This record gives sequence, structure tokens and C-alpha cells, in this order.
Amino acid sequence: MPKRPSTPQKTKSKIFNRDNFTCQKCGYKGMSDELEIHHIKMRLDGGDDNHNNLVTLCFICHYFSPDEEKDFEGYLNEKIDGVILDTFRKSAKSISKRTKKGMIGKSEKGNHVTRAPWGYKLENKKLIPTEHSYQVQEVFQDFLNQKVSLTKLAKKYGFSVNGLKKILTNQTYLGKIKFDKQTHQGSHQALISSTLFNHVQNKLEKLGIKKG
Ligand SMILES: [Zn+2]
Repeated sequence: MPKRPSTPQKTKSKIFNRDNFTCQKCGYKGMSDELEIHHIKMRLDGGDDNHNNLVTLCFICHYFSPDEEKDFEGYLNEKIDGVILDTFRKSAKSISKRTKKGMIGKSEKGNHVTRAPWGYKLENKKLIPTEHSYQVQEVFQDFLNQKVSLTKLAKKYGFSVNGLKKILTNQTYLGKIKFDKQTHQGSHQALISSTLFNHVQNKLEKLGIKKG
């Protein structure tokens, strides 16, 4: 595959300066080697180095930024507190950028950190339970107590089966945050007990839905 031309250093510097060396999503202020330039419209889709198409993000927020131009504004407006990402920043610093990218993999994993999972919303950069957050516990309990298939349960709550699996294994509901393969204690409110969570993980394993 031909290597895409990278954004000229000069352009990068201009954007970093314009954005005051601050990640436009989480507010992290860093050195230029901790920050990255995001193309709102990806180069792959014909996006260019026009300054309107460029924005400064920290590597974490950059990594989990959406590919689609139309999704970016929502992503950016969903502000998070850069402090909650600091533990990850520290541990990631020791890893080379290349390894980091390979390890993380662009996936929904980052949603646990950079987007609010179902049952939470981001308000004043904090993850807080929505008024429907009680349903999270309901879903976990339904899955545990009822002899209902994952498909039926997903239907009941209006999720895809995959979406439901992600909810049932999401440690955010325990008050933790996960990034890459590491889990840290978050500062947000847990929505379910670790006992309930563990029982659900056991059942998932027994059903062969989750690898032990
Ligand atoms: Zn950031």
C-alpha cells in the first residue's frame, strides 16, 4: 500500500498553536509529541490539510475519534475530563507509539473511556448516571435470573446481541474505566455490584459466550 503523505510539520505546528497545545476533547495540554492532528474528514475519504479540517487531539482521544466526518462534532462536544485519562497517559508513555497503536486497535474499547456507555451521560466532563440508569441493573439481573436467550433479552431492551454482550461485560458499570488492556478505578458512580457483575460473567462463560 502506498504510504500516505503525512501532514507537514509546519501545518501541524500551526494547528497546535491555534489550539493552544490542548486536546480539543479532553482538555489535556501537552507537548507536541503528546498531541496529534486529527483529520475531521479522513484523508482516505479525500480530506485534506485545510486548517478547517484539522484539530488537535491527545493520542487517546485521537485514537478513539470516529472515522466518519458526520460523527465528529458529537464526539468532540461530548467533553470528558482529561484527568480521568491521566493514568492511561502515564502507562502508555512507556510504550512506543507503534506498539501502542497495534495494541489498542481502533475499536469500541475506547468508548468506555471517551464516550458514555448506555446508562451514563457525560455532563460537565463527568460520567454520571442517566435517569434510566436503573435499567442497567435490570438487564444484568434479567440475564442472570431468567431463562431467556440473549437474543430475546436484547430485543426486549432494543439492543443488538452484540451491544448487549458489550453491556454485560462493561466494567464501567463497576465504577472502573478500561483502556487498552488495563483497568483503573474511575471516579464515576458504579451502577451494579461486583457480585452481580461476577455472577453474570460466570454465566456468560458457562454459556460459552465469553472466553474464560
Ligand atoms: Zn484528549
